[in-house]
Amino acid sequence: MPAPYDLQREELERILEGEPTFRVSQVWDGLHARVLRPEEMTELPASLRGALADALPRALREVTRQSADDGQTTKWLWSLHDGAEIETVLMHYPDRVTVCVSTQAGCAMACQFCATGQAGFQRQLSGGEIVEQVAEAIRAARPRRLSNVVFMGMGEPLANYDRVWSAVTRLNGAMGLSARHLTLSTVGIVPGIRRLAGEALPVNLAVSLHAANDEKRDVLVPINKRYPLAMLAEACAEYVAATKRRLSIEWAMIHDVNDGGSDATELAAFARPLGAHVNLIPLNPTPGYSVRGSTAQRVRAFRDQLDSLGVNATVRITRGAEIDAACGQLAAWTLPGRTPS
Ligand code: SAH
Repeated sequence: MPAPYDLQREELERILEGEPTFRVSQVWDGLHARVLRPEEMTELPASLRGALADALPRALREVTRQSADDGQTTKWLWSLHDGAEIETVLMHYPDRVTVCVSTQAGCAMACQFCATGQAGFQRQLSGGEIVEQVAEAIRAARPRRLSNVVFMGMGEPLANYDRVWSAVTRLNGAMGLSARHLTLSTVGIVPGIRRLAGEALPVNLAVSLHAANDEKRDVLVPINKRYPLAMLAEACAEYVAATKRRLSIEWAMIHDVNDGGSDATELAAFARPLGAHVNLIPLNPTPGYSVRGSTAQRVRAFRDQLDSLGVNATVRITRGAEIDAACGQLAAWTLPGRTPS
């Protein structure tokens, strides 16, 4: 049985065979434009509602829902049909509402300082499993309107390209979210960046750099050995030229590892030719990495140095750290009594 958001319209037509034809659009719009569950589609006869709910079981079962930042941040732990677990984070800001979705259960990229990377790879998520995280966030955000989706939760989106892209097109098409408000974040999978450069939909791209010399980046972000900085820079330039979008670079600030003067110089040399904007993320603690984050003072000095080198940088305000919902902390192991697998 398909998950509701993996369903193609033709499959829905088959499920609704024998019903008046207008039911297909009614249910399709109910699921996508109005983000209703079948049992909430009160315009349908009760028997049909029940049959649809049975035919389209939800992909995500809520295990826990935690909140932080005075209720402005919510984190879900979901269990999937096969027992795999993923997390989703919803963040309310004065001017926007953003959901951070997972694209894989676990992650194979093994970045040293990332909790998901420490836990390893479990499996790919389907497009429907990704879209349903957004659907749940849209429902939970009401009466506010969810405006932004960042593919920055568990997993590497460009290592699950086809399913992620099917989610993007469904969010943009059937659900009406603007492509300019969708952001894919990548560790730097060069073929994926190239493919993205050729897509018609102008989604945003963020590249998790963290080090701008190969020796250092090989250690922090092991995929760098396969796609070293020169290759990465070339693919990023191609993306910028093809899409005319401004690239973002993410940089987790790690004390005495990548927060010094020469790190800022190397980063500026990488970012400036690309016209990229830099997001500095104070490192969030994870169980498998003992180095601490940079002090606020060093983060400021780093930002000022970038500024003087002609690179625009902002410091990302951490959300949800006390419920392990911040960048790099998603690992589905934070329930009492659980330990890193
Ligand atoms: N795999 C994708 C998306 C998931 S990670 C990627 O690498 O971009 C989302 C962001 O959080 C990335 O920039 C990642 O490098 C960063 N991150 C990982 N661990 C972190 C930590 N402990 N503290 C701060 N940021 C972290």
